[in-house]
Amino acid sequence: MKTIYLDNNATTQVALEVLEAMLPYFHDLYGNPSSMHSFGGQVGRKIREARESAAALIGAAPDEVIFTSCGTESDNAAIRSALLTQPEKRHIVTSRVEHPAIKALCAHLAEQGYRVTELPVDGEGRLDMEQYKRSLTPDTAIVSLMWANNETGVIFPIEAAAQLARARGILFHTDAVQAVGKIPIDMSKSAVSMLSISGHKLHAPKGVGVLYVRKGTRFSPFLIGGHQERSRRGGTENTPGIIGLGKACELAAQHMETENTKVKALRDRLENELLTRVPNSRVNGDRVNRLPNTSNISFEFVEGEGILLMMDEYGICASSGSACTSGSLQPSHVLRAMGVPFTMAHGSIRFSLSIYNTDEEVDFVIDKLPPIIETLRSMSPYWRTGERACGTA
Ligand code: PLP
Repeated sequence: MKTIYLDNNATTQVALEVLEAMLPYFHDLYGNPSSMHSFGGQVGRKIREARESAAALIGAAPDEVIFTSCGTESDNAAIRSALLTQPEKRHIVTSRVEHPAIKALCAHLAEQGYRVTELPVDGEGRLDMEQYKRSLTPDTAIVSLMWANNETGVIFPIEAAAQLARARGILFHTDAVQAVGKIPIDMSKSAVSMLSISGHKLHAPKGVGVLYVRKGTRFSPFLIGGHQERSRRGGTENTPGIIGLGKACELAAQHMETENTKVKALRDRLENELLTRVPNSRVNGDRVNRLPNTSNISFEFVEGEGILLMMDEYGICASSGSACTSGSLQPSHVLRAMGVPFTMAHGSIRFSLSIYNTDEEVDFVIDKLPPIIETLRSMSPYWRTGERACGTA
């Protein structure tokens, strides 16, 4: 059975060009990039090239790029550094819809005595900028807001938010894990102090990421050890991963335009056809300021897990907006923060496309999914009675 992979916000396929670029560095060219000999030196040179490619994709200088192990490490390193370099400040501003890499860290820091403001979002997943402005205080050490939401694709006004923070002398971090490679980002014209990237979201392998740190930003390393990454992240480099990420950044720069036209056209067709063919369905999140590859659709009165299982029979991969916790299906914190009604939140599916998806694949999903929803609804007592009295989650 062919796999139809529409779960690219979870992870992406390593591009063949990326794999080819990495392969020599597993076996033949295994030298340590810090070694004095030329066998290691040639690997060091490739890492320098990868750093230049990663920097170019986001309009940064190469020495503003720190290679890490993943998006989660980049996020943790940014927040921890801001707190360690400004011990007198005890306040963090973030949002209710962040990825657990920020959300769980902030909850942990709150337990340690830091004050955390989690900004709410409206029904479309948008930030209230007036409330944001009011949240900034002289005690605020860092603002951390995601560039684009992993579940809905909603894009926050990061430049405006970063400028407001800079005007008050507050560090601004953005988790750009879902945005980099999908939409243009230019740190040379930005007020952002730190930005996180994860390789496996842009056709590089798992286990490699980047933390961008603006020149002049005080930085305290998260991993203390050797002099790698100019003493900002100890540990022998993941050389194949870094070289793969460099190649993926080059490809992303080339494909950005395609992502914004071909992928968006595929996403829009999938979304519009499903909304037309399936009654009681709707899109979650701002449809204007949104990543070109993401569509989060709720199918009322069915459970996302049921839809996923039945799509799986056809080889269709996507994600649901609910997670099985303690035996009960809880809608995701993102949909809850948006106030999506309970009967809608439970039946939400995230489709996230990539440049490798085709028209035929979208046709297949448009054909198979409506009967799946119909079958599941025929088994739902709520659908049969038209019951909507489940309240909101
Ligand atoms: N931030 C966002 C918005 C994400 O979507 C993810 C992964 O899903 C992460 C952070 C964590 O990245 P990683 O899996 O590389 O740790």
